Amino acid sequence: MGALTGRVAFVTGAGSGIGRASAIALAAEGAIVFVTDIDAPGGRETVAMIEKAGGQATFRGQDVTEEARWAELVQRVMDLYGRLDVLVNNAGIGTSGAITDVTLDQWNHQMAVNVTSCFLGIKHALPAMRTPRPDGRIGGSIINISSVAGLGGSAGMAAYCASKGAVRLMTKAVAMECAAARDGIRCNSVHPGIIDTPIWQKLDTSGALQAAVDPGANALDVKLIGAGAPVGHPGQPEDIAAGVVFLASDASRYMTGAELVIDGGWTAH
Ligand code: NAP
Repeated sequence: MGALTGRVAFVTGAGSGIGRASAIALAAEGAIVFVTDIDAPGGRETVAMIEKAGGQATFRGQDVTEEARWAELVQRVMDLYGRLDVLVNNAGIGTSGAITDVTLDQWNHQMAVNVTSCFLGIKHALPAMRTPRPDGRIGGSIINISSVAGLGGSAGMAAYCASKGAVRLMTKAVAMECAAARDGIRCNSVHPGIIDTPIWQKLDTSGALQAAVDPGANALDVKLIGAGAPVGHPGQPEDIAAGVVFLASDASRYMTGAELVIDGGWTAH
């Protein structure tokens, strides 16, 4: 029996990178995983990987910025399984560029995908987590994927840093609200360092970020940037997934409002 047998987990952005690795790791511990992503082929591939390994998962397309879809999908989870135990707010994008170059549309989109998504997910998941299970118990674990960029600033990443800092403090506020309600729901943030996922290929490399980390190169090289971590290399999505499983499980039952930093020492110096 796994640490999450009988639990139901909702993971956004699970068609790629950290979300996919987290979905796979949660399923390996026995959770039924509700995989969502704006990238349908990626999400379906994650489900296929989970099923191939003997786990249970289902996919639904989701743009995490749309409230009506959140309401619909949380209801779908309750109709299918009658419970929601874990929410991983993972879907995210990175907007790079000097703050003087970032357009208002880019800023608003960055906030919608990284911050509003967490607000909407938490808002709609809480009533489901507060629904009594067959044994009468209520509760759950909300895990928000922030970043080391939510702990400190980076040149060329003002919009992204602002979004991840907001996720960090929303997490703590929700943790306080749930603790006061005595509803058994914990809310924690995870702060990955440089992790080798496709997000790095999607960043705009024309501006200040490029100049700050890798002058003269045509594209951001995650291995080169990750080499700047004290351990000398980038992390893998599975390194973050291990932290997600820990926060989802009862092993972390006394943790709420906490920041789990998994960064190869990036923020320690
Ligand atoms: P990734 O491989 O690009 O995965 C992110 C997934 O989210 C993609 O499948 C993406 O789809 C999806 N997505 C984008 N916009 C969405 C939307 N509006 N609705 C639903 N899904 C959407 O990136 P990752 O590195 O695994 O990132 C996962 C999380 O970790 C993000 O919150 C990121 O900020 C955070 N993080 C990553 C690192 C790192 O070094 N990799 C470090 C710190 C924090 P598309 O491919 O179609 O855009």
